[in-house]
Amino acid sequence: MAFMDDISVVDPETSEAILNEEKRIRDGVELIPSENFVSKAVLQALGTVFTNKYSEGYPQKRYYGGNQVVDVVETLAIERAKKLFGAEHVNVQPYSGSPANQAVFFALLELGDPFLGFDLNAGGHLTHGSPVNFSGRFYKCAQYTVDKETELLDYDVIMKLAKEAKPRMILSGLTAYPRKLDFKAFREICDEVGAYHWADIAHIAGLCATGVHQNPMPYCDVVTTTTHKTLRGPRGAMIMCSIKDRLDPNGKKNMAQKIDGAVFPGLQGGPHNHVNAAKAVAFREALQPDFKRYCQQIVKNAKVLADTMMGKGLELVTGGTDNHLMVIKLVNKGLTGKGKEVQTALQEAEITVNKNTIPYEPSSPFNPSGIRLGTPAVTTRGMKESEMKVIGECIARVIDNVNDKEAIARARKDILELCRGFPLYPGMGILK
Ligand SMILES: *Cc1c(COP(=O)(O)O)cnc(C)c1O
Repeated sequence: MAFMDDISVVDPETSEAILNEEKRIRDGVELIPSENFVSKAVLQALGTVFTNKYSEGYPQKRYYGGNQVVDVVETLAIERAKKLFGAEHVNVQPYSGSPANQAVFFALLELGDPFLGFDLNAGGHLTHGSPVNFSGRFYKCAQYTVDKETELLDYDVIMKLAKEAKPRMILSGLTAYPRKLDFKAFREICDEVGAYHWADIAHIAGLCATGVHQNPMPYCDVVTTTTHKTLRGPRGAMIMCSIKDRLDPNGKKNMAQKIDGAVFPGLQGGPHNHVNAAKAVAFREALQPDFKRYCQQIVKNAKVLADTMMGKGLELVTGGTDNHLMVIKLVNKGLTGKGKEVQTALQEAEITVNKNTIPYEPSSPFNPSGIRLGTPAVTTRGMKESEMKVIGECIARVIDNVNDKEAIARARKDILELCRGFPLYPGMGILK
């Protein structure tokens, strides 16, 4: 085993696992709405010598020597991100979405400060004030949820809650809410109560960057996003903000300095430079006209998938979607609390989804009554409306026959055949 040997020689077990993962993603349809497939160029940037370098600090202000090249790629990533979202300041160093969100809390709130976030069960994220998360433990969290009838956000109700809770910061953002957000309405609520407006666009970043969804940047003090969901970059995150601190205009530090200081030295150590190089590549891709067409197709595909499933008798939270994701309610199929079983049955048919709570969940988060799915990854693969009809029809068939092995096997055959027509990473055995 030598330093320059291939991975297949150095570690046959890991190398076989990588090959098996390549096979898994090629054979099935990936419908987890937070997942995507990065381009070959992004994968190439990830597998580079940039993984070796320590570069604590920021471009031109590093603690270690030898960072002249790292500065080039980090600056490329920053400038491209600014252009994508019209941001004044960007920090591309957060390791992932949750650490980015921690940095926002750390930068702008004191321990125990009041905060208003979106309830996890109704479509928010753990880091939006869930009691099991640091955000719910260390801050005084109030949560807004969706209307029981419409399952939509009601901005008048959020305004009322904000006036009661008097939060220092209000979150807008989603993980499982299938509709557009009104960032301007959130801004008005924040202005009314003197709160920071923080948008977490982890899921919808690609749509926001291309105008397929409203861009929150003009209405926010700070915006966080992952880079690996609809933005189709490497696993990671970034924080975008204004330079001025609206609620603390004469403070010792402005908003940009507070955010940067919270990421490093506040929470993190050295940046992951191979990932940041890959972010630069992904942002360049996202600035091309093709990426806008891609994002438009994600939404068109989601609508057709939703319509197909509803046509087959499935019920969706809010009765449909206007972004990239949707949540099936299993209640009318007699499958309340059976999200896990349905997820497993769909997996047997090579359809990858995740179980999810539904608003006002009648069962529990461990045995939820919903299935969340979305179209970013299948759209990257080149699938369009007609393929969505096949997939939607297969999903409905599996849900109607969760315990019928033969029906599931037939759906699996249809899915395998569909996927053969859309080769993923064609000609690119990653290990060959
Ligand atoms: C995915 C997601 C995150 C967390 O990202 P990780 O990279 O998994 O830490 C945070 N917020 C929202 C809204 C998300 O959807």
